Amino acid sequence: MQKYSNNMFHYSRFDTCEVKIGEIGLGGNNPIRIQSMTTTDTMDTDESIAQSIRMIEAGAELVRLTAPSIKEAENLKYIKKGIRDLGFSTPIIADIHFTPNAALIAAEIVEKVRINPGNYADRKQFQKIEYTDQSYTEELERIRERFLPLIRICKTNGTALRIGTNHGSLSDRILSRYGDTPLGMVESALEFTRMCIDENFHNIVFSMKASNTHIMIQAYRLLVSKMMGNGMNYPLHLGVTEAGEGEDGRIKSSVGIGTLLADGLGDTIRVSLTEEPENELPVARLLVNRFDSLKSNIRGDSTKIILPYDPFFHQRRESKTILNIGGSQVPVVMSDLSKIPNISYETLNKIGLQYNSTIDKWTLSDTVPDYLYLGEQTISIDLPDTIGIIQDKNHAGNHKYIYPMFNSISDLNASFHPDLNFLKINSDCNLTGLADLSIPTVLVIQTGSEQILIKLREIGIKLMKYNLQIPIIYSIDSSELTPDELQCYLSTDFGGLFIDGFGDGIMTFGDKRIKHINQTLFGLLQAARVRISKTEYISCPSCGRTLFDLQSVTANIRERTSHLKGVKIGIMGCIVNGPGEMADADYGYVGTGKEKISLYKGQDIIKANLQSGEAVDSLIQLIKDNGDWVDPPS
Ligand code: SF4
Repeated sequence: MQKYSNNMFHYSRFDTCEVKIGEIGLGGNNPIRIQSMTTTDTMDTDESIAQSIRMIEAGAELVRLTAPSIKEAENLKYIKKGIRDLGFSTPIIADIHFTPNAALIAAEIVEKVRINPGNYADRKQFQKIEYTDQSYTEELERIRERFLPLIRICKTNGTALRIGTNHGSLSDRILSRYGDTPLGMVESALEFTRMCIDENFHNIVFSMKASNTHIMIQAYRLLVSKMMGNGMNYPLHLGVTEAGEGEDGRIKSSVGIGTLLADGLGDTIRVSLTEEPENELPVARLLVNRFDSLKSNIRGDSTKIILPYDPFFHQRRESKTILNIGGSQVPVVMSDLSKIPNISYETLNKIGLQYNSTIDKWTLSDTVPDYLYLGEQTISIDLPDTIGIIQDKNHAGNHKYIYPMFNSISDLNASFHPDLNFLKINSDCNLTGLADLSIPTVLVIQTGSEQILIKLREIGIKLMKYNLQIPIIYSIDSSELTPDELQCYLSTDFGGLFIDGFGDGIMTFGDKRIKHINQTLFGLLQAARVRISKTEYISCPSCGRTLFDLQSVTANIRERTSHLKGVKIGIMGCIVNGPGEMADADYGYVGTGKEKISLYKGQDIIKANLQSGEAVDSLIQLIKDNGDWVDPPS
């Protein structure tokens, strides 16, 4: 296996070189930095300064602003001066797409410039062109000519450079050779990096962003493995693009960023939310603090370890099917009600089970847990047959859908259910004894380690090595977590496991906050793309290029479409990056001019330049025309 992490079985940070960005260091022994990006018009100097200060006061260690053209690049001078005059030395970053001329100006003003190698010197998009080796090389030479002036200005001024690849905005050249793949993203960055190295310029930071968490994680891992193989160790900026807003945005960012942080990767992070940028920083701080507190203590050398799965390609671990758990079935969600005395209809309502006594009918939402764990309790309510009940072994009755939870194999052997049994084990337990188990059993795995993702993954790896195809439910004690930690940390730990193909189900234990937990569990399964229970919104965070009120339009679209389970809707502030970066969406709502909207089906534009007032209605009609609409429940 190509190595991508210092150590797969103990947290250890990838040892990057230090890049100086103004007064602060990034990578090396520096803490993981957090940053964000303004949403103001960069020509609005006062607003841009004010928003930058709000971001800095919320914790931003770096502030990025868009520079779509020369005039915005020039205005960065006044914004930077305004920020410095107010006593803040926070480095400023210019975000460049398509406009090398703006980059050349910005590189003399700010501490860091971000370019997108997919569009730095390329305007063509989505064209299938066959490149011969010769035409490919000629194209690279053309790019080198456009890129060298920027490298030289950065060298002269001590300006750092982020080579920031985005899935969905790769050049025709890269697409023709590698497709829209993690490898294409990596090669796109490395082409530009080789030009930097040829000029002996090393003030480089990489990013490999995507809205799809699998692609994003695979691309970063692949990049690091290529760097390790080629003696490079440039710092990494982590982020999930177009993560959305609210709970969805936080969960998706935590799955993508948190998984890589647990791999020991990442020197700076940006959590992109379709909200005010200062809201991003507490989330980023939560994610980073958790890993900053872990000691980077390497045990063993993972180059000697052969993983039984491919960390650069998602494939689910093979497991047996036991009732609705394991095999090719979606991962199940279990709700721990064992700490809630007197389980009532009101309790069940919190997790999506509604009972109408007048007509004696249950209504189940798309996020009802598959199993309820009652511990030593019983329940007097007659539940729908689709819900399984789990009780501790001494209390399990003979009801068809009540299954026992055991703490040891000997108890299991003594009194098991013919269809389904649960066996609690710890992540460091000995797995011998499981090999001969012929009773239909699902493992419920917990860990006492603070490196939860790593330790829970390790036991999945062991099961694969021993060819034990017992389904596994991962279980985490969430009782000590604050509500925000609960959202971020469960998403990181469970999400990372599912990204690597481990897990047939999840639950937390010891926690009465069943509603919040249930929402988070279903949300993270969706973010890890292993169980879809709701509409997915791929909305950009907005920036100085945004052409409509992104937050209110996103809220409006969400209100009207949130019942369309499984439909992916992209909401992008501008045409420059929007269509490419929502590559994954079924439908797109993209700003094409001031209050002008174009609608997409996949990558095809269906209606161009609609007035923004009519565009949401037209989007709904487009969804209806394509057969993806269902009426909302009354
Ligand atoms: S898609 Fe959104 S965040 Fe990206 S450049 Fe356009 S407006 Fe800015």
